[in-house]
Amino acid sequence: MAEKIQLEVVTPDRLVLSDSVDIVMAMGSLGEFGILANHVPFLSPLTAGELRFRKDGKLDYLAVTGGFAEVSQNKVTILAEAAERARDIDVDRAKRAKERAEKRLAQARTESINYARAEAALRRALLRLKVGEKER
Ligand code: ATP
Repeated sequence: MAEKIQLEVVTPDRLVLSDSVDIVMAMGSLGEFGILANHVPFLSPLTAGELRFRKDGKLDYLAVTGGFAEVSQNKVTILAEAAERARDIDVDRAKRAKERAEKRLAQARTESINYARAEAALRRALLRLKVGEKER
């Protein structure tokens, strides 16, 4: 069997995932990257995006909203602002967040809003909807 690598996904309030996996694919600030067993040490900022990992032939998905990925000693550590496994995503909540963010952005035509904040909220909501769909 192919060698595995340890994957840990950590947020400020919890350990989201700790597992021994075959490959990890994450969205770095320069694009998506893949990490296999025995990868050289590596550090990359993450953008809001899908994190995928494969274990025993099965793909699993998480929504990760920013942070860092570190690879060292056959372990990938994802330090994320927020992260949810696809099966834990509350799709209705993400739909509500999307609607709120869209309304806020629409107000930008007539009033001054924090555009970057509303845009980031929309990006998180769209990501959660995309990843949440994987479990359906
Ligand atoms: P909302 O407005 O719905 O709170 P948000 O984008 O402001 O969304 P975040 O600040 O990114 O939320 O996350 C706050 C916490 O709530 C984190 O722990 C995150 O994992 C969790 N979370 C946010 N949205 C969802 C969701 N749709 N399903 C499950 N957990 C979620």
